[in-house]
Amino acid sequence: MKRSPMKKKKLSQKTLRKQLQAKAWSLMSKYVRLRDGKCITCGSTTTLQAGHFLHGKLDFDFQNIHAQCSRCNKWLNGNLAKYATFLVREYGYDILDELERKSKEIFKPTPEDYEAIISNLNYLLDSEAYDR
Ligand SMILES: [Zn+2]
Repeated sequence: MKRSPMKKKKLSQKTLRKQLQAKAWSLMSKYVRLRDGKCITCGSTTTLQAGHFLHGKLDFDFQNIHAQCSRCNKWLNGNLAKYATFLVREYGYDILDELERKSKEIFKPTPEDYEAIISNLNYLLDSEAYDR
């Protein structure tokens, strides 16, 4: 049986997905920190990270990810009571149900999905609004 040399060099789908996911997340994190400019739960402008409202879910949902300082994000586990207040003020009361509903949908992104997420984030990061 002949082996295809091309196939051997190709990354496995799993590895490729992981690499794309890591790249997409790093852009997502950069984008939300620029967009928000400060911790959305305490107003601090230092040690900003990308903080989830629903943890471990909706990593690329612009309404589930916001800038938070490391204190709120890590030590206060997301400071969620304040996070919820922020979300309602920002997006309206339905946002909590909406995020909950979306988090239950099965999300298994393909490499192509990640490529699309990456190119959208690159576009947003390049746009003038965040060029500061
Ligand atoms: Zn904070």
